[in-house]
Amino acid sequence: MASESDPAPSNFIRSMIEKQAVDTVATRFPPEPNGYLHLGHAKSICLNFGIAEEYNGWTNLRFDDTNPDKESEEYMSAIKRDVEWLGFKWKSLCYASDYFDQLYECAEALIKSGDAYVDSLSAEEIREYRGSLTQPGKESPHRNRSPEQNLELFREMRDGKHSEGDHILRLKIDMASSNINLRDPAIYRIKKTHHYRTADKWNVYPLYDYTHCLSDAIENITHSLCTLEFEDHRPLYNWILEKARASTANVELGHPVQTEFGPLNLEYTVLSKRKLIELVQQGHVRGWDDPRMPTISGLRRRGYTAASIQEFCRRIGVTKSSAVIEMSAMETVIRDELNATAERRMAVLEPLKVIITSWAADESKTLEVSNHPNDPDLGTRQLPFTREVYIEQSDFEEVPPPKFKRLIPGGEVRLRSSYVIRCDDVIKDANGRVVELHCTHDPDTLGKKPEGRKVKGVIHWVSAANSVAAEVRIYDHLFNRPDPLAEEDYINAINPDSLLVLENAQVEASAAQAEIGSRFQFERQGYFSVDNDSTPERPVFNQVVGLRDTKN
Ligand code: ATP
Ligand code: MG
Repeated sequence: MASESDPAPSNFIRSMIEKQAVDTVATRFPPEPNGYLHLGHAKSICLNFGIAEEYNGWTNLRFDDTNPDKESEEYMSAIKRDVEWLGFKWKSLCYASDYFDQLYECAEALIKSGDAYVDSLSAEEIREYRGSLTQPGKESPHRNRSPEQNLELFREMRDGKHSEGDHILRLKIDMASSNINLRDPAIYRIKKTHHYRTADKWNVYPLYDYTHCLSDAIENITHSLCTLEFEDHRPLYNWILEKARASTANVELGHPVQTEFGPLNLEYTVLSKRKLIELVQQGHVRGWDDPRMPTISGLRRRGYTAASIQEFCRRIGVTKSSAVIEMSAMETVIRDELNATAERRMAVLEPLKVIITSWAADESKTLEVSNHPNDPDLGTRQLPFTREVYIEQSDFEEVPPPKFKRLIPGGEVRLRSSYVIRCDDVIKDANGRVVELHCTHDPDTLGKKPEGRKVKGVIHWVSAANSVAAEVRIYDHLFNRPDPLAEEDYINAINPDSLLVLENAQVEASAAQAEIGSRFQFERQGYFSVDNDSTPERPVFNQVVGLRDTKN
């Protein structure tokens, strides 16, 4: 894996462009607005925008809005926001629906040239006639309708004179082709759905393969980059463009070339809008931007930066083959970034009260503490030390396991950036649970080693009077196996413990006042961000990532 200082790694697409010595590189990112973008889309965005930028070209954002049943404006605005947040600027914002007139004209031209026909078989018959990988297809009895008959029928379809499923428009290519995509693919279907942009103008909508290549050509895209599953569609992509150029004199069409690359797959999650919708709709997560989701909005809410997602995409690179990337590859990037940039704070996630009996009740001493161990530019903050403090329950053991270096009855520990304290008394409730410790501090240990003895343990703490009660959300993988799709139903692979809510955390006041989206390292705990649900009265933090990789 590349390190941060490496130059942009070369890849086969860059090498191809170098060889072509083209004047310009024009690309597009063409999402269907039927869900929120995920990390797989981020890979495609970084590739399309990145490569165009590198060769002084441009990139369009194009909504492939040909299926009004599944698409919505909510999804479109979420997609725009995510692309912008990732740091990319499109040249034009385009919609396949803007080309509906041109696509329709082109379809009529293909009918006239004998390259398209109206079929009236049922969906089931069409499937049967298509054949299989080993069996050639069979020609439809309607295949030899005359162009005049086809034109009349197609116009009737457009005008709403037929019902959904009665007819479709197909290309006339080759029912015996070894490539199933060339066995007279459908290009238009009847659909009487209201479209959010074209309203009720259309009763027929074009299908993906037809729309996509023509949209690329209309926009003068030079490099149409898509994922591997479209490799077998490439002959169709080229067939349509060639026929369209030959049969339509009045539509200006460019010469895009399709190139496929390996899609991103990530362990312990699923990258598919259709599946992510199910997680949201069935209530397995709290929404599209749930911090456990592999969506761009989920990662943003979790505390990932746009730079870390770009860096992740740079490190995984672009190849001709499909690869499964470890989740830890993603975590390493954000951990490295936040280690360098995040200010340090102290937060006690599961508090145990400590009373410093040697400290006066009304006394408060302000300690000056640095915000980052290696970056003095991040400055210092003032931390009040008071008689009552909280430490982590797990930093005290009555019966310590071997090598336990933290607080034990009669033992000493240093409170980070503060004094060494000794535990004199352990207070328990009626059930024998430890509820409070009584300790004394050694006043000669502030910024100094204790005299005549060694104190090995250093633990984090917060002042009871100067900390704020907060909710802390700790996340684990959304699925409990690296390959959830290998399960018969991937829903069964959902990890029931992917969210742990700690309701009684106490955080330093300065972290509690931070704005939504701020990121900190909570010392000895990990990296955290202020969640959208946060209010000044009730701060809420998300764990972005732990301090080190504990999963592998
Ligand atoms: P999904 O199955 O999640 O809906 P999709 O490919 O159907 O994905 P589109 O909205 O059509 O979603 O995708 C827009 C672009 O993003 C396409 O060019 C597609 O190739 C690319 N893309 C989608 N998923 C991935 C992935 N896992 N890795 C890389 N690129 C991807
Ligand atoms: Mg899709």
